[in-house]
Amino acid sequence: MSGDSEIQALIQAKIRDIPDYPQPGVLFKDITPLLGDGPAFVAVVEALAATAGPVDKVAGIEARGFILAAPVACELGAGFVPVRKQGKLPAATIAESYQLEYGSATLEVHADAFGPGDRVLIVDDVLATGGTAAATATLVRRAGGEVAAITVLLELEFLKGRSKLSDLDVHSLLTV
Ligand code: AMP
Repeated sequence: MSGDSEIQALIQAKIRDIPDYPQPGVLFKDITPLLGDGPAFVAVVEALAATAGPVDKVAGIEARGFILAAPVACELGAGFVPVRKQGKLPAATIAESYQLEYGSATLEVHADAFGPGDRVLIVDDVLATGGTAAATATLVRRAGGEVAAITVLLELEFLKGRSKLSDLDVHSLLTV
């Protein structure tokens, strides 16, 4: 098996499908079995980090993105920046709202999180419709950073998230 297919097999084996969570009709991709397996966790963090060139910051999206983005930042020798749900960050923020299937959501980042032209890798667990990743990319740019790439563990291809990210370099370790 090549490195890539080993990682794909690992992710496939360690991500658990939970039907009808958090609401009927959603097949939730539960990454906790992967996180709970030390060698598997190390392997996916290394694989996520390998998708990026040199970056200054790694931005993680609350909440599961934090768990992956922080060790990826350490691996790359980069800073970590939390992208949080509205009202959670203590200092001055920039906010970006986006549409969900029902209603809308708002993400925020500290206004001083990035230096001018900082190269930023965005990390999350799952790319679904792409709204979360697209809003995060907009936030990074509005805060003065440059989006180097977006990297996720798992991409749900049928939801066509990439179509919202067409101007960006998007990597997924596994596409289903
Ligand atoms: P989206 O904005 O539709 O691309 O949704 C992506 C965000 O929602 C990510 O932060 C994921 O953690 C979460 N998410 C969306 N769909 C799923 C799913 N089926 N299983 C697990 N997490 C999901």
